[in-house]
Amino acid sequence: MKRRQFMQTTLAGMAGMAVTPMAFASCAANKKENIVVPDLNLSFQEGIPPGDSLSEKLDFMESLGIVGFEPGGRGLAGRVNEIQDALKNRNIKVSAICAGFDGFILAEDPEVKANFDSSIRDIVAAAGELGSTGVIFVPAFNGQKPCLPHTIETREYLCEQLHELGEYAVKCGTTVILEPLNRRECFYVRLVSDAAAIARDSHSEGVKCMGDFWHMQEETSDYAAFMSAGTKYLQHVHIASRGRRSMPGEDGEKDDYRDGFRALKEMGYDKYVTFECGSQGDRRETVPAAVELLRAQWQEA
Ligand code: MG
Repeated sequence: MKRRQFMQTTLAGMAGMAVTPMAFASCAANKKENIVVPDLNLSFQEGIPPGDSLSEKLDFMESLGIVGFEPGGRGLAGRVNEIQDALKNRNIKVSAICAGFDGFILAEDPEVKANFDSSIRDIVAAAGELGSTGVIFVPAFNGQKPCLPHTIETREYLCEQLHELGEYAVKCGTTVILEPLNRRECFYVRLVSDAAAIARDSHSEGVKCMGDFWHMQEETSDYAAFMSAGTKYLQHVHIASRGRRSMPGEDGEKDDYRDGFRALKEMGYDKYVTFECGSQGDRRETVPAAVELLRAQWQEA
């Protein structure tokens, strides 16, 4: 390239760079105006719908327009065919897999840690076959002892271990999802933002986090909690009534999810919100009422 031609090219390139910030700004504005409000993708754990068999439960779910199913992880490898067959020709997909492994990741006893490593990998592999968004886990419940101390070194160890597990999950086509609880249940991870920061520091696309409206009692704002994770890390949501962990709506005015839903809508969250709760009344009545309440609040949020 001749010098003159080079200068022209370079100047044109610099001119391009000069307009770039404005171009970005107008792009962002358009994006905001055109943001697509996501659907509320409701999902049930296996114990939520009434029914004597998986097929009856799925029929009930379909009648309510539920699009996700969250089985427990225990014995999942032996259930892959059963679940795939049951979901055939239905508009329901596996949303996430809830725990079901042995041991725990912060166990001090090497044998307990080894049990965790092998059992969660079996579940992650099955979750990948089922097209799940991920496998939910808690690093250590308060009652699980002996546990590594709550120190900086333990956090670094957790991130290293999660990196390996996350990379394995990516190979299986899924993720592992860190679930924060609250200080009475799991002192180690109490806030959605804590879980999101651990996911970030694990440096693996296969490590994500979630929020559970029931456990989110220590959050100062449901909206800020979900926003702190953003779509980069927020992979799943659980929901229950906010007094007794029953069907949403069974605790009356406490069951206001609109602040959190507003964040999910603004983020364009397109994954699932799964019922993880009991029921005070007959499920044939409480479940449809809860679904109706959540859809109304999603509209209002
Ligand atoms: Mg939960």
